[in-house]
Amino acid sequence: MQNRIVNLGYVTGLDYRDPLIDPHAEFQRFKSHPFLAKLLKGGKMIRYGAKAIAAGGWHAMPRLYADGVLIVGDSAGFLNAARLKGIHSAIKSGMLAAETIFEALVAGDFSAGRLRGFESRVKESWITPELRRYRNFHAAFSRGRWLGMANAGLQYLSGGRAWGIFDRVHQEPGHEVMRKLSTYGYRGDDATQRYRDLKFDGQLTFNKVSDVYHAAVAHDEDQPAHLHVLDTNICSTRCAEEYGNPCQRFCPAAVYEMAEMSEPPAVAGGQAPRRQLQINFSNCVHCKTCDIMDPYQIINWVTPEGGGGPDYKGM
Ligand code: SF4
Repeated sequence: MQNRIVNLGYVTGLDYRDPLIDPHAEFQRFKSHPFLAKLLKGGKMIRYGAKAIAAGGWHAMPRLYADGVLIVGDSAGFLNAARLKGIHSAIKSGMLAAETIFEALVAGDFSAGRLRGFESRVKESWITPELRRYRNFHAAFSRGRWLGMANAGLQYLSGGRAWGIFDRVHQEPGHEVMRKLSTYGYRGDDATQRYRDLKFDGQLTFNKVSDVYHAAVAHDEDQPAHLHVLDTNICSTRCAEEYGNPCQRFCPAAVYEMAEMSEPPAVAGGQAPRRQLQINFSNCVHCKTCDIMDPYQIINWVTPEGGGGPDYKGM
């Protein structure tokens, strides 16, 4: 029998409310659906990867030029969120950038004033009507799936107007949307409160560490740290209590771990934190989710040393 390759993807909006949501666990649950379980039965995992995608669309687009700089493709937010497709606009924006750079080379001028022509080219190309048509698509789902589907349908019929009326709707940043554990009545960060029946069988469902192995991640152990946590006391105290350290869940590669302290510090008149943050940076698949989702915005993801990270051959 001929071998077949199945590519399977799952997208979680990084503006969810429940602090116990774990996008990786949601993906495992998705694969357990009878239709997919049957499709994947007897198969073997070949590759695993994770990536944050810029779904903010037209309204979240940055200025596309600066002195000596042009921003193209995914970095510029050219993803069509409704179609989950952006390679076509990435290629087109690369072509428009090349035309702009050629002109700048001829003129010997790479100032922002000269490179502004790139933004005009994008506005005159088919990228603009395509992205404007879906400019409120992501925001449509901010009130849940069913209202989101109705809203997205009306947007489609009205050329992108939210509820068929508004040109633009306000959208909160994802990290401000997450609610505290107490909102859901959770006690602590035990993920089984949400994923009661989830098991990792090593055939259809995998834990994060097994998945990371299939991302072929490699980092030099002595490379400069690329994950900077600005105040780890917040992790042990406020974040543990309020959100149950969601970094342990939103990271798809088990990089963040709250490890028991061998000698908890003495705290006068209060309860000493029991756990501290441990960063298993060599697992990092460079998805950049932590920079976006951390509710206190104390994780700074800086560009890692070249040559390391996941090796996504064949994906
Ligand atoms: Fe992604 Fe951050 Fe985890 Fe690295 S540490 S895999 S960038 S969420």
